[in-house]
Amino acid sequence: MTVSGVPRVTLHDGGLIPQLGFGVYKVEPEETRRAVGEALEAGYRHVDTAQMYGNEREVGEAIRASGLERGDVYVTSKLDNGFHEPEDARKAFEKTLSELGFDYVDLFLIHWPLPNRYGGDFVSTWNTLEEFRADGRARSIGVSNFQPSHLERLAAGSDTVPAVNQIESHPYLTNDRVRDHCRERGIAVEAWSPLARGGVLEEPAVTAVAGKTGKTPAQVVLRWHIQRANIVFPKSVTPSRIRENFDLFDFELNPGDMEAITLLDRGEEGRVGSHPDA
Ligand code: NDP
Repeated sequence: MTVSGVPRVTLHDGGLIPQLGFGVYKVEPEETRRAVGEALEAGYRHVDTAQMYGNEREVGEAIRASGLERGDVYVTSKLDNGFHEPEDARKAFEKTLSELGFDYVDLFLIHWPLPNRYGGDFVSTWNTLEEFRADGRARSIGVSNFQPSHLERLAAGSDTVPAVNQIESHPYLTNDRVRDHCRERGIAVEAWSPLARGGVLEEPAVTAVAGKTGKTPAQVVLRWHIQRANIVFPKSVTPSRIRENFDLFDFELNPGDMEAITLLDRGEEGRVGSHPDA
């Protein structure tokens, strides 16, 4: 199934998530309304925010201002690191809904596992997210930055399998070990910093494919993710790039092009963000 040409991925709980969305990490609140408005105008129907980003309110405002129905836009938010204790998580989730101005989110995630805080007890945090799913205020629940060992601990303490795991993944850190672990358990993979924050766009392997296909380096890298079945939400505050990053569904990379980009993997050296165990 596609909407505006964007395929939807079916989550194991039956939820349908657009494979391409719009990320708003480090987008200032005052810029968020404009950027999200432009993204919705360009055709995006999926926005990835978080309590930590401080812009949930503006995301909600932009969606309402667009004139789209609430049900037309898939909205994800994430529990901030200071709120893992169940009672804190409940209050923080209520605040997310009131900031967004919605009575539900499509997807709510534990942002980081924090194995070295709260006695490493992310299982009771997860049990609290299960409440939000049970009462319908979170249509799906999932995790972010969970390594296989964290997922195994979760599985030992809960029967609810996360619908997604949102992890760092891009050509410099394909993160295939974690991706494979998720896939084997029916957990959809969301790739954060899909462009390595812009870092991979000047790689000769990428620019060569861009030259051949007549697409831009960013489109080539995002298309590589799409063909690897990753869910992506590139961030940009630049109107032309917001449109460019949405235009991914009229070309295909051949196996050789895919392989050339995958070979850019530098393993741990390629990380642009924090390690989940740190
Ligand atoms: P991205 O990989 O999406 O890169 C964003 C950077 O690339 C910006 O500097 C942007 O510049 C630039 N850029 C975007 N499009 C283009 C283009 N077409 N050509 C050239 N440059 C471009 O990085 P993010 O870290 O923002 O990751 C995306 C999203 O993933 C986040 O916004 C957030 O939603 C999520 N995320 C989740 C994390 C987690 O822990 N769960 C951690 C980090 C991110 P400009 O804006 O100036 O146009």
